Amino acid sequence: MTDTLKKPWLGTPAGTIEILQKYGFHFQKKYGQNFLIDPHVLEKIVRAAGIGPDDCVVEIGPGIGTLTQYLACAAREVYAVEIDRNLIPILADTLSAWDNVTVLNQDILTVDLDRFVREHNGGKKIKVVANLPYYITTPILMEILGKKVPLDSVTVMVQKEVAERMQALPGTKDYGALSLAVRYYTDPQIVAKVPPNCFMPRPNVGSAVIRLTAKDEESRVEVRDEKMMFGLIRAAFAQRRKTLANALRNSAELQLSREQIAQAIQSCGLPEGIRGEALTLEQFAQLSDAFPSKE
Ligand code: SAM
Repeated sequence: MTDTLKKPWLGTPAGTIEILQKYGFHFQKKYGQNFLIDPHVLEKIVRAAGIGPDDCVVEIGPGIGTLTQYLACAAREVYAVEIDRNLIPILADTLSAWDNVTVLNQDILTVDLDRFVREHNGGKKIKVVANLPYYITTPILMEILGKKVPLDSVTVMVQKEVAERMQALPGTKDYGALSLAVRYYTDPQIVAKVPPNCFMPRPNVGSAVIRLTAKDEESRVEVRDEKMMFGLIRAAFAQRRKTLANALRNSAELQLSREQIAQAIQSCGLPEGIRGEALTLEQFAQLSDAFPSKE
């Protein structure tokens, strides 16, 4: 195979339409199919992900293989996980010039990524890159971040508002459970805003590329019981207009008494009427440690 054939050629409106027509492909709304058609955006994603010749990349939802072509040119190896079986023969065609790409016809939520990394990358860290299907952005990210998958970074296109929530700081309207989970596991950085005309079909919302650089376990905020901390965070933001104390008391999941809550809030030096949205990640960790251990 010559190098000229190995150049990405799909990320344009004409290239995409040609492939869609050749295969009579119809977009499936239920799978969040909005394909990228702008080479500048594609290059920006690969640059932001910092993909180099030693990298093993997992791409979620390759679609017709547009971003995959760019990734295959930059990485050592690419595993592309696509749920829609109608796309599999198309991917075999559009990726035929690259022998470092493996396509898996699977739902990403059913892939055991930890096992996958052990088997395919000798347990070394992978990079996840995707133009994510917007209908399941949060479940996919929580699945990847919450599991102990050896991870270098996750660079993804998401709905602009979701990217802003991921990067939000305490006291802002966008700050919530997602911001805290993302900050616990990673350092987030929005790297580009992307308008609807960079996709086919055009989504009804603006998009953004965000890079989440994974933190090693040692550099995460220290907390005795991660589960307890995330339970507190969920409860605090389930009723974000209520005081932290009331939100925690109303949580069926936590089952904490009024006295336990008041004591914990006080021992952290927080005002009685504080709302959860004012607490930093460090303060949630401190609050979590202020409750008696369940073990
Ligand atoms: N990467 C392509 C691009 O940028 O042009 C396509 C991106 S499109 C927004 C999302 C892709 O994710 C679609 O191909 C869709 O079929 C696929 N997808 C949706 N849900 C999925 C899931 N649970 N697991 C794997 N792929 C999924």
